[in-house]
Amino acid sequence: MTQTTRVWRLGAHPRGRPIEDGDLLLDTVALPDPGPGEMLLRTRFLGFDPAQKGWMENVADYVAPMAIGDVMRGSGITEVVASNGGRFAPGTLLAGSTGWSEYLVHDGEGLQPCEPSLPPTAMLSVLGTTGMTAWCGLFKIGRPVAGDTVLVSGAAGATGSVVGQLARIAGCRAIGIAGGEEKCRWLVEEAGYDAAIDYRAGNLRQQLKELAPGGVDVIFDNVGGKILNDMLAHIATGARVVICGGISRYETGSLPAGPENYFNLVFRRASMAGFIVIDWASEFPAIRKRMAALVHDGRLAYREDVQHGFENAPATLKRLFSGANRGKQLLKLAD
Ligand code: NAP
Repeated sequence: MTQTTRVWRLGAHPRGRPIEDGDLLLDTVALPDPGPGEMLLRTRFLGFDPAQKGWMENVADYVAPMAIGDVMRGSGITEVVASNGGRFAPGTLLAGSTGWSEYLVHDGEGLQPCEPSLPPTAMLSVLGTTGMTAWCGLFKIGRPVAGDTVLVSGAAGATGSVVGQLARIAGCRAIGIAGGEEKCRWLVEEAGYDAAIDYRAGNLRQQLKELAPGGVDVIFDNVGGKILNDMLAHIATGARVVICGGISRYETGSLPAGPENYFNLVFRRASMAGFIVIDWASEFPAIRKRMAALVHDGRLAYREDVQHGFENAPATLKRLFSGANRGKQLLKLAD
């Protein structure tokens, strides 16, 4: 039953520039038959994260470096199509790190069955790394208490939109920063934010002053750069600054210089900490259960942006850096 599969391979490290044609190369390779204990998996969806560009650049050391020619690393939903005594039965939908491959042979290690009560793609969005990042970053690092003001950058994105809703559930006031009027309207009218600021319209610091005259207690930053600097100018005494990501740096070749306003951490007796969500992986099943319950109770909404066709994987990844995505960026492979 030997067959072939298409894969996307790393063609070049996109350091100091946007992703270009040639950074990812489409290839067709032979697939071995599943050995004992292995399964043949067919990819149904791919999930996209800004961190993938960092992996292509090899800028991060919390994951193994990517070499030219490696199959692009990424998460996906796959279906078991055949099993040679593998741990999951044919027909089972599995979520996990599968890479950009239409088919793969796998022993199932690290993959988990999709939560049956929600559409399978939820395992890449609200119940996946995105939802876990929102929960862990907010509650473990941000430690909000009822009455706090929580300020989120990248607020209309997959992670940011969940953070705002969790903050509201915790009794906080949520202010989101996003690019463009339409995203800001969506934040307030549908994503449960109390207020939104369009950073592209300028005057971020003035708007922050007006919306939170007493300063903000928790910052959840997905963006870094100038936006982080402006947010730091406006922290309340005892604030917690959560550094989740820094998407504004992705077209520069190196990690950014520190924000000018960092000394406000001293004046405001505040703390700033980063995190890597996988450090709490052992807690994901319990958190996932609580998140699924919030979705079922109608208290937590999530948005997914589904593009189509395996050949469009690189273009789909690029959408994250132009702000084209509306919610969790996904790609559906052909049926
Ligand atoms: P996302 O927010 O759904 O999509 C990215 C958004 O970033 C875009 O829609 C765009 O929204 C904004 N953006 C892009 N370029 C920007 C720029 N130059 N300046 C300001 N905003 C820009 O992506 P996500 O998957 O939820 O990821 C959010 C963040 O979480 C990322 O930084 C990611 O790396 C991080 N993350 C961290 C961990 C961890 O363990 N620490 C785990 C997972 C994800 P606008 O239109 O509003 O600009």
